[in-house]
Amino acid sequence: MRFDDTFVDQLRSSIGILDLVGGYVRLDKKGRDHAALCPFHSEKTPSFLVSDSKQIFKCFGCGAGGDIFQFIMLIENMTFPESIEHLAESHGIPIPHATKASGPRSEERQLLLEIMAQATDIYCRWLPQKKEALSYLSGRQINAQTVKQFSIGYAPPGQRLLEELKKKGYRVEQILACGLVREGDSGQVYDRFRNRIVLPIRDLSGKTIAFGGRILGDGLPKYLNSPETPLYTKSNHLYPLNVARDEIRRRDFAILVEGYFDCIVPFQFGIPNIVASLGTSLTQNQVKLLGRYTRNVITNYDPDSAGTAAAIRSIDLFLEEGFHVNVLQLPSGEDPDTFIRREGTETYQQKLKGSQSYLDFALSQFLKQQKAPSSPKGKQEVVSRILPYLAKIPNKIEQAEQVTRIASRLQVDENLILAEMRKVPHRTEKQPPLNYSLLVDRVTPAEKILLAAVLEEQWCQSTLEQVEVQLFEGLRTEAIFEKIFYLQKGGGTISTVHLRELVDDDSDRDLLENLALRSGELDLFAEAIENSIQALQRMQYERLSRQIQEEIKKEETKNSESTALDELLNRKAQIRKKLKEIERGQG
Ligand SMILES: [Zn+2]
Repeated sequence: MRFDDTFVDQLRSSIGILDLVGGYVRLDKKGRDHAALCPFHSEKTPSFLVSDSKQIFKCFGCGAGGDIFQFIMLIENMTFPESIEHLAESHGIPIPHATKASGPRSEERQLLLEIMAQATDIYCRWLPQKKEALSYLSGRQINAQTVKQFSIGYAPPGQRLLEELKKKGYRVEQILACGLVREGDSGQVYDRFRNRIVLPIRDLSGKTIAFGGRILGDGLPKYLNSPETPLYTKSNHLYPLNVARDEIRRRDFAILVEGYFDCIVPFQFGIPNIVASLGTSLTQNQVKLLGRYTRNVITNYDPDSAGTAAAIRSIDLFLEEGFHVNVLQLPSGEDPDTFIRREGTETYQQKLKGSQSYLDFALSQFLKQQKAPSSPKGKQEVVSRILPYLAKIPNKIEQAEQVTRIASRLQVDENLILAEMRKVPHRTEKQPPLNYSLLVDRVTPAEKILLAAVLEEQWCQSTLEQVEVQLFEGLRTEAIFEKIFYLQKGGGTISTVHLRELVDDDSDRDLLENLALRSGELDLFAEAIENSIQALQRMQYERLSRQIQEEIKKEETKNSESTALDELLNRKAQIRKKLKEIERGQG
């Protein structure tokens, strides 16, 4: 799908970046700009800046930057066209039809989404017709409002969905591509979900991209999910993040559980910051996804051995992404669903408050798994298994306290643990991909001032009248100024958002964003701009003078009597004169 530039501009100007970003992170005013903790990487001091006047954001830690569309693409995991649609829809701005010229891929995607939406409706309509399904849901105390909110439906036996969708004009290949039906060995096509309660899995904008199905009665498997399709990659989603994320962000912590009903029931009973991984094991992508909304998580997996192993594995992934992790284990045989229904929300909340730190949890598990935990060998093994976790505690004081605690719990000398810890390869913090100072070091102060001036409405015209593209030859900002002159020639508006779209090279774009957001630190006034132009002119003439000197040398070795040499010497004298003029002009 392509949108025309006028519409994109119109959207950009009617949705302010401050309001938009402020809906996701807490912004504090800092000088002319606003600062926040970066939602795209883990940090303790804000290096994420938003400029209202430039309409861009930039993180000086991880390098993420751009306009409102980049922000939505990153935070909502969307493509560019999706970000436009999302912003237009959520701000009630109609998308002109003429601009919706679809490409083949997004057209297919739209069609699959449409089929999934139809299937969701059909399943929902079938639910009230199946007594057993209704009594299953009421047995789990799921009320009508929750059924509606989560669009819980019913898939009957046979091939009824296939028939319904065919009646609506969809082709079998299209329905197959959605994963709603499957092909048997004999080539016969039948419904994937049969005699199951079905729950739509939705993307962040609330569109159905897959289904999960719980069997009614005793069939196997108990739970069945959609296969991977062009719409759905299992490892990239958390259920039901589209409804849970606001509360996760607001409460600044998430509860991670295993299954659909482990989410839905707590949700209905007033615990809305809860998501499920919907797979046997959590993935790095899912952890990153959650990390956009919070860095605090309490895992609440089944206390059986599979659940415990999953909890241990998840700790590693969460620590890797800088999360604070606690582990809640309910009494044997209980999951969040059954526990809340029997004991109530209050008791569950107390359990959450009393959840163990990941370190205590891991330690007790390692001790449990040891045959002889109090033998020297047993202790040694437990120490070596817990060491990597100790080493990951970023705060040194907290780390020392934990070492003391663990030493006393294991009844070993804490110096032994400390000695072992020194052997653990030192983990340095992940370096941000871009280094601001490195990038900007090669930019002269004059370039910084002139770029800042051009990006400022007040100074743009008067500055551009005095400079030309040759002034920036060979300088770090040359490519950026080339685009500035290009925009000027075409009579386009010179703004950071337009420039960053034109700049081809990623490092140039990054530089532009960096300089644009740091430009508030510069004092712009006529004399500073004047001086900067002169400084660059001097550099330009010095460059020219060096070039001519080289050519003179070449000519001299060839033929000292040539007229070309005279001309070169002449030009050299002129450049000298220009340089003198500049110096006088400055004095
Ligand atoms: Zn960042």
